[in-house]
Amino acid sequence: RTTRDYQALDAAHHIHAFVDQKALNAEGPRVMVRGEGLHLWDNEGKRYLDGMSGLWCTNLGYGRKDLAAAATRQLERLPYYNMFFHTTHPAVVELSELLFSLLPSHYSHAIYTNSGSEANEVLIRTVRRYWQILGKPQKKVMIGRWNGYHGSTLGSTALGGMGFMHEMGGMLPDFAHIGEPYWYVQGGELTEEEFGLKAARELEAKILELGADNVAAFVAEPFQGAGGMIFPPASYWAEIQRICRQYDVLLCADEVIGGFGRTGEWFAHQHFGFQPDTLTIAKGLTSGYIPMGGLVLSKRMAEVLVEQGGVFAHGLTYSGHPVAAAVAIANIKALRDEGVVSQVKNDSGPYLQQCLRQVFEGHPLVGEIQGTGLVAALQLCEDKPSRKRFANETDITWRCRTIGFEEGLIIRATGGRMIMAPALVATRGDIEELVSKTKLALDRTAQELGRL
Ligand code: PLP
Repeated sequence: RTTRDYQALDAAHHIHAFVDQKALNAEGPRVMVRGEGLHLWDNEGKRYLDGMSGLWCTNLGYGRKDLAAAATRQLERLPYYNMFFHTTHPAVVELSELLFSLLPSHYSHAIYTNSGSEANEVLIRTVRRYWQILGKPQKKVMIGRWNGYHGSTLGSTALGGMGFMHEMGGMLPDFAHIGEPYWYVQGGELTEEEFGLKAARELEAKILELGADNVAAFVAEPFQGAGGMIFPPASYWAEIQRICRQYDVLLCADEVIGGFGRTGEWFAHQHFGFQPDTLTIAKGLTSGYIPMGGLVLSKRMAEVLVEQGGVFAHGLTYSGHPVAAAVAIANIKALRDEGVVSQVKNDSGPYLQQCLRQVFEGHPLVGEIQGTGLVAALQLCEDKPSRKRFANETDITWRCRTIGFEEGLIIRATGGRMIMAPALVATRGDIEELVSKTKLALDRTAQELGRL
């Protein structure tokens, strides 16, 4: 079939994510047909460097035969069974054994799902259940952050702070939000350190406003992903943790993007040095080869749910799906045994960060470079000393992204930031290609704006 055939069928049958569908139909989507390592090929044979690991998920890159073989073996042996009816199966048990061998020892239990959105839905219900068992059923408000992203289902959307997703008159009851720790835009005259504390103390103010007896949990991404790869100041997380402990509010980290090696640590909260009560995971759990997510619980929470909780009226047909679990095991073993995560910490991560700083520190469009490990953001700005942003910054970053596609590069535009998160198996050569193509895209954008 030709690209036009696929595009016509696609337009006839699909509503895509987060786009103006009519405009996309007129333009025609790229038809991706093959992947190997960090590269993708479209139906026309054009090659792209995928600087986003798909959607922050193909941590091991494309084309891994060992993951395909793990899926095939499990499909042939036991393609499906569930965790209802007092049953379990080796794949899910062995996955948990492996997962908890990597996690800090204060985590003990998991509830598996098919996606990050579902994992956050399960989080909302589990947190409510936890407080109910402890005799505090009124403790059910979940506090998230404006511009945070936790998924596209009803509960995870309410938890998230993407205002444009709270359609039809606002969000669900018992959800609240505080501001994001985005120093570049909101810091004003404050140092990053001062702003980090101020942003964290918004949580304290919100808890006091709502009453600590009504607040169940604070939920946030250790670094904000879809909201623009925003890294909080170093003072932020310790203060958030102090506040959660002081007011007996659960601290819940959404590790859907940050988990499985992205920052050079297995989980992003380890990079930032705080200790959440729960983790939501997905994406890198299987390197995106098959859908799987999960909610990880601390021993303290699990003990309450197991020892005092009785029946938890919750279950998913595909929770702990054997084929997904088998792929997750193969994926985690490869990340561990091939030294991929330590490579991100000690070599590829520092190399990407160093190259970005070398190339973009003096760039006429770039006001700030943030990142760690294999995740980074370039903040565009009109005037560097005052941190003034372009009034039409979204048009500019989208244009830059489009130029990137023309040059065979996939990076993402969010607000005034260009963001990247290549697969964790990136070689130095891949990183050099990523940085030089990003420079090409930014240079062409700067030329169009008359700034280069
Ligand atoms: N949480 C975070 C931080 C995410 O970035 C995403 C997706 O991008 C989700 C949750 C939702 O995951 P999914 O798309 O698998 O439902």
